[in-house]
Amino acid sequence: MPSHPPPDCSVIIVGGGPCGLMLANELGRRGVAAVLIDDKPATAFNPQANATQARTMEHFRRLGFADEVRSAGLPPEYPTDIVYYTRFAKYELARFPLPSSREARARAAANSGGWSAAELPHRVSQKFVEAILWKHAAALPSVSLFYGWRMTAFVDRGSHVEVEAESVADGARTSIRGAYLVGADGPRSAIRRQLGFNYAGRTGVAREFMGGRMYAIYVCAPEFYRVVPHKPGWMNVTINRDRRALMAAVDGRGEFAFHTQLRADEEESRVSEADAAAMVRAAIGAPIALEILSRDTWTAGHALVADGFQRGRVFLGGDAAHLFTPTGGLGYNTAVEDAVNLGWKLAAVIKRQAPPNLLDTYSIERRPLAVRNTGYAQTFADSLGLFQPAPEIEDDTPQGAAARLEAGTYLNAHARAEFNIPGITFGGRYDGSPVIVADGTAPPPDTVNTYVPSACPGGRAPHLWLGQGRSLYDAFGFEWTLLRLGGRAPESAGFARATTGLGLDLTVLDLPGDEARELYGADLALIRPDQIVAWRGNDGAAAEAVLRQVVGFDVLEIASLHPQ
Ligand SMILES: Cc1cc2nc3c(=O)[nH]c(=O)nc-3n(C[C@H](O)[C@H](O)[C@H](O)COP(=O)(O)OP(=O)(O)OC[C@H]3O[C@@H](n4cnc5c(N)ncnc54)[C@H](O)[C@@H]3O)c2cc1C
Repeated sequence: MPSHPPPDCSVIIVGGGPCGLMLANELGRRGVAAVLIDDKPATAFNPQANATQARTMEHFRRLGFADEVRSAGLPPEYPTDIVYYTRFAKYELARFPLPSSREARARAAANSGGWSAAELPHRVSQKFVEAILWKHAAALPSVSLFYGWRMTAFVDRGSHVEVEAESVADGARTSIRGAYLVGADGPRSAIRRQLGFNYAGRTGVAREFMGGRMYAIYVCAPEFYRVVPHKPGWMNVTINRDRRALMAAVDGRGEFAFHTQLRADEEESRVSEADAAAMVRAAIGAPIALEILSRDTWTAGHALVADGFQRGRVFLGGDAAHLFTPTGGLGYNTAVEDAVNLGWKLAAVIKRQAPPNLLDTYSIERRPLAVRNTGYAQTFADSLGLFQPAPEIEDDTPQGAAARLEAGTYLNAHARAEFNIPGITFGGRYDGSPVIVADGTAPPPDTVNTYVPSACPGGRAPHLWLGQGRSLYDAFGFEWTLLRLGGRAPESAGFARATTGLGLDLTVLDLPGDEARELYGADLALIRPDQIVAWRGNDGAAAEAVLRQVVGFDVLEIASLHPQ
């Protein structure tokens, strides 16, 4: 491994969080030369995000490491219940039972309808996911990962971009030249600021919980499992009138990601290690031994989206482009989907399979999704953070019991709304995108907790088990897939000719059964590399026109159709 980042590449990625690392994987799998720099010494030490949504797991499966991710974090038999207590060692108020990773594998194979998918959600700390993303990206010959390097400046020359970087360790300097630059550099993105884009939306929302200055404590407390008399859960939340907190299990043996909201009179810079330990003990409600591994502050109450995702050869993705309140677990997952969307498009343009204006569709498609998802996260934060339990909730009296019953009823409903979200995770759509061939049908309504599989172009390809545990998603090609559905599907020769002409890689898949034909509502369906239905129809005669449209040819001045 050379000591300095290479001077030339196709794509420079600044930021090695989930967005940057996922993009490195997408580009590297397509043989595109990518250089990633990140100013941290290595991937995250702190747990960060806790939930990997099913759609993200489908993308990890496509890249071949979903099983590895599902094996990371909690032990295979550890339940991923969401549990609400007054304090962890006191009264349990509500519980939403969810499967362990071992059970999730089996349950996915049996699911149908809205949860028909090869993968279910996985509860795992982001730090473990990042390490896996890093390992797979590092193994790709066209990818160079340089942690400990900070971008200090960049310039878009029109024909290429130049990035100045310095080593955090010794101040050594270097320049990197690339065809494109992606700012996956997190919420304080210097790239977003230099591009002149601002976050827009809601910020500074005040709530009793999840709306204000938060204090994060990464803590090791194996005694938790001894002093808490309840069945273990993955996400443990306290509801009382003293201090509210959540504590997500990280390794199932004693590590937790603890978050509480600072009171108005608490100054973050004055919180000592002893104060931090007292916050954790107050939430547990028992005096246990614990070790603080790290502490940090962050702010809850944002639902922000940058007013632009691209200028010239420079793109924004992940938290650099949108900032969530973490209820619903959508920030990192939205960041991953940004990378998926941008990855195949950059590769297609760099390989000259698609015109540069395909890249304009990145913000056309992803920005509305960021607005949608930050909005959903905000409704969950309101539902949890504005809930006020009765003052007697901790009392050992009939009034206290009544208060707990009332809170439990509310929280049971809240948990099922926030943590059973196939509608959000599978229902994101790119309607109106100029590279989606609309067929005049209406998509199902966008709802949080219900997902209606639909092959209406612009949405996720409906999932189907093919028998013997094989998922349709495993049969898709890595790039484009043409499904021939039912017994009377027309020939695919036109599509094969057109893809060859454009230099695209097409897998043709025959699904002769009635179930598949009915699910897709057409004899033919064209699936994009990101598993989105690009087109469906009963006649292959328009193959060339369809393919030219879905990669951005013949769609002139795309950006002017959707001004930022
Ligand atoms: C308490 C909490 C809980 C959360 N829970 C969830 C959850 O359950 N599910 C979920 O989906 N999301 C959750 N999130 C959000 C999630 O952690 C973020 O959305 C995610 O990390 C965004 O990834 P990213 O790659 O865009 O940015 P980041 O992870 O922020 O990575 C950006 C990287 O860029 C680097 N960088 C910045 N500037 C430079 C520079 N000039 N040069 C070089 N490197 C630079 C930074 O060091 C950093 O490593 C949570 C967040 C918090 C705070």
